[in-house]
Amino acid sequence: MKYFGKNTWVYFNGAFIKADRAEVDLFGQSLHYGYSAIEGIRAYNTHNGTRMFRAELHFDRLRRSAELVGMPFPWKTELLVEHTYELLDKNNLRSAYIRPLVTTGPNMFLTPAKDANIVIAAWEWGPFLGSDLIRVSLSPYQRPNPRSLPPEAKISGQYVASIVATNEAIQRGFDEAILLDSDGYVAQASSNNLFIEKDTVLYTPAFGSVFPGITRQTVLEIANVLNIDIVEKKLTPEDLRGADSAFLTGTATGIVGIAAVDDVIFPEEWSDTLGATIQRAYKNLTLEKENYEVII
Ligand code: PMP
Repeated sequence: MKYFGKNTWVYFNGAFIKADRAEVDLFGQSLHYGYSAIEGIRAYNTHNGTRMFRAELHFDRLRRSAELVGMPFPWKTELLVEHTYELLDKNNLRSAYIRPLVTTGPNMFLTPAKDANIVIAAWEWGPFLGSDLIRVSLSPYQRPNPRSLPPEAKISGQYVASIVATNEAIQRGFDEAILLDSDGYVAQASSNNLFIEKDTVLYTPAFGSVFPGITRQTVLEIANVLNIDIVEKKLTPEDLRGADSAFLTGTATGIVGIAAVDDVIFPEEWSDTLGATIQRAYKNLTLEKENYEVII
């Protein structure tokens, strides 16, 4: 996977610089302690031109992530959105995955940062987990405890747990890990939210240890418009294993159907599921084939 070349631009603190000229602070907490805030946004090649999906929500969430861990965030959402469109243009990207990253300056103490940098990078990226149905496994690892770090803070250090859980699932021959919370309820995948279908109702784990995904929120809104019953509640591993179908949601992933959890194959044909209906609506929404006001 090539993320940048000689002619790739990144946005850095208000200016555009070449990616191969960007420097990392060797004495910053971001590198040593995972003290940085990140986002993941997608831009789609629509008939209205290149359009980021819900970019304002993503940059607002980035601000909140930084503030939750005491990092300064002096940048305005509208300007960041504007500069990101410029960045896509400079890199000739019509569709892209966009990674804003807030890092902090030199400081080896465990004290909150006094200053911060923002970097925005973008590259072409297909669906994170591919387009085929995936196989998932219940992980022996739990979601990070919400009392040690707020689960809504998208902080780099949180993702070490995601890497460890994904790696464990892949080593056992699965595509992705499903993590339980510390009370034994199903939370989500390592970097995607989870939905299950049972008797023509959709369920998704309620907040607690769950990351507030923007795709998750979009799915709730689509379901409301399409008159699909959808319930946020605590789900047990038995609920998951007994589901008719299931799917994952995330900006990088989009919506991907799940064929099986461990040795249990979901009985409903994916094309007949509510997830498949929502997957089509989500695609139309991101490609602006359907007017947002009409569908939502
Ligand atoms: N869970 C985690 C832990 C995530 O990092 C993400 C984003 N990659 C998601 C869920 C999905 O969130 P969104 O729909 O906002 O991309």
